[in-house]
Amino acid sequence: MTVVYVTDGILDKTARLLASFADESESEGVVYWFGLELGDLAVVTTLIVPDADTSTGAVRTSAAVNAEAVGALAGTPLVLLGQAHSHPSRWVEHSSVDDRDTFAQFPGALSVVAPHYGRKGMKLASCGVHRHIDGTYRRIRGAQVEEHLRLLPAVRDLRDRTTLQERRRTGWLQRLRLQFQGAHNDD
Ligand SMILES: [Zn+2]
Repeated sequence: MTVVYVTDGILDKTARLLASFADESESEGVVYWFGLELGDLAVVTTLIVPDADTSTGAVRTSAAVNAEAVGALAGTPLVLLGQAHSHPSRWVEHSSVDDRDTFAQFPGALSVVAPHYGRKGMKLASCGVHRHIDGTYRRIRGAQVEEHLRLLPAVRDLRDRTTLQERRRTGWLQRLRLQFQGAHNDD
């Protein structure tokens, strides 16, 4: 089974999009994860927000809405890898409706459930990670999660901040010394 890689940046963006479903009236949200499949690994690159019906506070997507979501990436090498959706509380199991109505229904499809409407971000430890295995969604727990879903950094800033601090401190000391000398010369 492929290992799906996602950057922390994509995960943060997913949480913000899920939370946006609950902006006006509290509703669960859904975001589709698309990306590249490269042999035994896949990388999430792109988020598609379907034009879901959220009038009941839950998410419903019609066949037409899902066709539109897939069509948005026609002509690209990106494929549907899975989805993330939100729940109101910290409960992140799949409901029977989730099992039945989740758009992605193929071996290896990933379904991540974010707690608290995604408002508190998507730390993987607090999310429910589910994978379509042997014809049904199964919750993946604990150490097994990394066999299915792994985090990558979106940005690493390697500039040396200590050098900058050092320069600032040296500058401050020099100014102090000059002030002292100036005061001394005035005597
Ligand atoms: Zn659900």
